[in-house]
Amino acid sequence: MILDAEFGYELLVCRYAELAWYPGADPRPAIVSRQLGTRERRWDTVVIEVDPAAFAARRQFGERTIDSDLLHVVRHAPADWAWYRDALPDPGYPWRYVRQAVHRAADRDLIATRRQGNRIELRRIRPYPDWVERIVAIENKPDLDRSAADALADQLAHDVDAGLADEVWLATESTGGRVEPALLRSMPVEAGILTTRFEEGTTGSVAANAEASTANAEASTANAEASTANDGAVTVNSDAATVEWLPSDLVSNGDDGRDPETVTRRLEIAERAYGKGWRSYHDTMRPDCQHFELRRAGRGLVPHCAAKGRLPTARECAGSCPSFAPEPPQWRTKGWPIEGGPGAGIRSLLDRRRERARSRVETPDGW
Ligand code: SF4
Repeated sequence: MILDAEFGYELLVCRYAELAWYPGADPRPAIVSRQLGTRERRWDTVVIEVDPAAFAARRQFGERTIDSDLLHVVRHAPADWAWYRDALPDPGYPWRYVRQAVHRAADRDLIATRRQGNRIELRRIRPYPDWVERIVAIENKPDLDRSAADALADQLAHDVDAGLADEVWLATESTGGRVEPALLRSMPVEAGILTTRFEEGTTGSVAANAEASTANAEASTANAEASTANDGAVTVNSDAATVEWLPSDLVSNGDDGRDPETVTRRLEIAERAYGKGWRSYHDTMRPDCQHFELRRAGRGLVPHCAAKGRLPTARECAGSCPSFAPEPPQWRTKGWPIEGGPGAGIRSLLDRRRERARSRVETPDGW
């Protein structure tokens, strides 16, 4: 495994899923996120299969996640004006929190509100669409061994009980030959198995903050996409994985077979996936560090630390990192966009890529 961290493997799996969903079959419109789930269970990679037309309607509500409190308001907002306590189902918690959520929803133009005396009335601006088709969880184990196989069996048992995911896959890196058959046999039969070959290609470089102080952020990040230099690292493409075993549905009858609370929790996960995507590592890492780069990996981009000479983990790439070197303020003034320097350019590039992925999903011609 050339990547130094499972984090890097996870990013490549996310990009593969974005390029090639559904593995080994006809394409399905889907968005991809990572590190989502519930308090009891967090999935490495999450694929939300969507209905394209309904997804386009969801995008009308904006690009940010609609959190659980807002969902309660937005999903049940009536077509005609009504007092919010008459219109919305009993939340099971104090109404004053619902009232706060009503105001937040109105501030984001998710609903309309008006005051009638001392009562707040609301109505919907548009119906909230039924955009989520299926939720698929992928566990990433670049080095599959017996303990990983056993752990997945336990996790899958939980997934079946919880009924949150429709399908679970294991992604593991090929070691040259096939994955050891004995390990595959020990996996739960419900789990699909995907072997990846991310090491076989070459990669280009780099959106390098330190080198780019006199260029502008767009040029720097465009270089990251255009570069063809080889340095023998990893790559990701739509054919970078092989299906070893197809999964089975964990829940029959879809949402009809689930209780309303589970349906709501699934929607909350889907909303978080929608708002977060898988490239949001720039929110917690330090693209504003002089050593932070984006390195090309086939049809994907992965973070790279020039000081460490490798892909940093999400945890170590922080303000507490001993090698952290904030970009100089002058980088943000000499020809850089007024809103920031190279770090802002990297954030902007990753956000644009998330937008492009969303736009592709809602375009039926793309599928
Ligand atoms: S030096 Fe530290 S903070 Fe800077 S890019 Fe590398 S890991 Fe991140």
